[in-house]
Amino acid sequence: MPSQKSYKKIVVKIGSSLFAAGKNKLDMALVNNLAGQIAILVKQGKEVVVVSSGAIALGMSILKLTQRPKELRQLQAVAAIGQHELMHVYKLALARCGLNCAQVLLTWDDFSKKRYGNAKNTINTILKFKALPIINENDTVATEEIKFGDNDKLSALVAILLDADLLVILSDVDGLLDKNKQVIGVVGKINGQIKSLACSTNKKICVGGMITKLEAARMVIAAGIPCVIANGSKFGIINAVVASPFKSGTIFLPVKK
Ligand code: GLU
Repeated sequence: MPSQKSYKKIVVKIGSSLFAAGKNKLDMALVNNLAGQIAILVKQGKEVVVVSSGAIALGMSILKLTQRPKELRQLQAVAAIGQHELMHVYKLALARCGLNCAQVLLTWDDFSKKRYGNAKNTINTILKFKALPIINENDTVATEEIKFGDNDKLSALVAILLDADLLVILSDVDGLLDKNKQVIGVVGKINGQIKSLACSTNKKICVGGMITKLEAARMVIAAGIPCVIANGSKFGIINAVVASPFKSGTIFLPVKK
């Protein structure tokens, strides 16, 4: 387990529910706050990579859809309509903090041996330019995260690809909750009991929920990377997690490094 000072490379996953805030409407104050928090980390010399969903949520908002479409091709089209808006929103918020950003669209296939190096080199070079890579699934050609996941597994693959020091998964819940709805602070092993606590999320806007977050956590801790699930709607949460990972949300301890 690296000390918090050695959290140099941090992957932050931002879920769709944060963009829609349950009302199919963008919460710009929250996006500005997230951007400001990331800028603080960059100023501290850390390398931050964002994995963000929200293309479908913003596409729904542009098209004034109140229900998430059911057909896969419709979801892919809505994502294409929303993706540029997602980047526009990030661009505006980050520019206020003096940061540039880069759009990186990936599929699970891009983590195969052949393209692994290309993805890794490009993202690391974006970081060298002091810009913020913002990664989403390439929804036009891939459907894994649309069907089930909301980019949770993608964020784990990215953290492993980049050999990150920490994966922070931001959602609209405070962490993994026990049967009494209390946050479990530390998870050492993802066993059957832990898995039984996972429940689903707001399916009107996105898919995934705690099941895919636990799967993402399982993947990264097996690769020696700690993972924190925390509530992204709390202002200042990213900085709080990086400063004290045992005090905000649920931390999953790495198995080996
Ligand atoms: N790539 C999708 C998006 O950005 C994933 C989230 C989802 O399926 O709702 O919207």
